[in-house]
Amino acid sequence: MYDFAIIGSGASGGRMAYELTAGGAKCVLIEAGRAFDRHSFPPGELGYSTQMFWGGGLEVSRDARFGFLRGKCLGGTSVVNQADLDRFDDLAWDDWRDRTGVDFFRTERMDPYYDELDRAIPHGEIPRSYYNRNAELFIQGFDKTGYHWKPIDRAQDDCKLDHGSDCIVCLGGCPRNAKQSTLVNAIPQAQALGLDLECEFDVERVEDRRTEVRLVGRQHGAQRELVARRAILAAGSLGNTALLLRSTDLARRLPALGRNFCCHPQYMTYGVHDEPVDAHKGALQSVQAHDRRLREAGIKIENVFAPPIATAMLLPGVGRAHHAQMRNFRHLACVEVAVRDEPLGTMKLGRGGKLIVDKPLSAADRAKIDEGLKLALATHEHARAKQIIRCDQGFGLHLMGGCPMGTDARTSVVASDFHLHGFDNLIAADSSIFPTAPGINPSFTIMALSLRASRELLAR
Ligand SMILES: Cc1cc2nc3c(=O)[nH]c(=O)nc-3n(C[C@H](O)[C@H](O)[C@H](O)COP(=O)(O)OP(=O)(O)OC[C@H]3O[C@@H](n4cnc5c(N)ncnc54)[C@H](O)[C@@H]3O)c2cc1C
Repeated sequence: MYDFAIIGSGASGGRMAYELTAGGAKCVLIEAGRAFDRHSFPPGELGYSTQMFWGGGLEVSRDARFGFLRGKCLGGTSVVNQADLDRFDDLAWDDWRDRTGVDFFRTERMDPYYDELDRAIPHGEIPRSYYNRNAELFIQGFDKTGYHWKPIDRAQDDCKLDHGSDCIVCLGGCPRNAKQSTLVNAIPQAQALGLDLECEFDVERVEDRRTEVRLVGRQHGAQRELVARRAILAAGSLGNTALLLRSTDLARRLPALGRNFCCHPQYMTYGVHDEPVDAHKGALQSVQAHDRRLREAGIKIENVFAPPIATAMLLPGVGRAHHAQMRNFRHLACVEVAVRDEPLGTMKLGRGGKLIVDKPLSAADRAKIDEGLKLALATHEHARAKQIIRCDQGFGLHLMGGCPMGTDARTSVVASDFHLHGFDNLIAADSSIFPTAPGINPSFTIMALSLRASRELLAR
């Protein structure tokens, strides 16, 4: 029998599969999506969106005010993300510790895990000589606002920008294996050590049988069951919450299930320039705001871009007006605003077992969004854009919470030893356990928490 069945192969599941297997445990990694690799990633934005993402490319909140993106493929969202690696600062850890009572939520207790990952995962900054025009315009405009920026540290190993690579294609999987997703940097290494893999296996529910767990789901259209001593729930914020809500015997004993959802609401702004910007060419994302004042205000500003279909969905207007905006695609510079939102979101199951996500914004969230947008628009103005466009469609790429960690079983789902309250066989360390939004890119911390959880499990 397997020691651990790991459900979900993204930032958390892929990392835990490697650490537990390397530590001598017999593991199986279960993934609802397909196993693509650099030779088989579906070409084109439409191809990868429909085949590598949940919901065929986009899921929405109940009121459709937010679009959510999450990967559905071997390697999960780590395959389709932008691989920015950021550590939490004292502000994030202190908030988590104060709210939850979890003592290891502190810089000095978590730094050793980040340090270890720093050594295990190749990463680095884009050299200035490879910044594209979108980045240079951002720097030009942002410098004049009086705030500071810094280059982004990304989990990548030789993007071959000198060969003319356009990193935007990596949003559908990196064809050079330069991006250090778990598909590249954890799962193959774990397989070499004996990890078993089960893809296209959508786990529908989990049953706790005291000395073992039973997973029930569908694989290639047929019913499938699997039994293991313990299950690691690593299906992400929406995935873990849906899975537990469907496991009605478990859900009944977890009163805080579905709470504390947050997503760093994001909004794009565009500046239209006379000369082509070609923001889709070269290094997609190289710099971000780095300023204590913005950090304390809960505002995150990044220099990024989106491929054409996503841009078309975000740009305001319809008909001719929208068409005219899209004709400017090559002339668009982009500044993205995200905010550290309050964890007011909730998830529950609707008809047919579909997950319904409610994502209200508080007055404080709205004020942060307004402030961030003002700064983004000023950045475009300083960069001498001839027209400035503000997109009102919000989206969430950092999906967090639903199974928050904490010491009180009435207000949290996962205890500080990574076990679900009251369950010895069920463990989680992924984005679903975030108690609040940190205001910082989450995946490095998801990996650090997963490394910590793996070490604790192996030490038992
Ligand atoms: C476009 C984009 C860009 C991003 N850029 C960054 C960035 O630069 N830096 C950063 O830190 N973060 C970034 N993120 C967010 C980051 O990638 C995620 O927060 C992180 O991957 C979440 O890790 P996870 O392990 O919790 O879930 P995931 O990585 O989403 O993995 C969950 C896995 O579980 C699988 N699964 C779900 N349900 C089931 C089920 N029932 N049965 C079997 N399998 C299931 C899913 O298919 C998926 O593979 C980005 C996200 C997106 C969408």
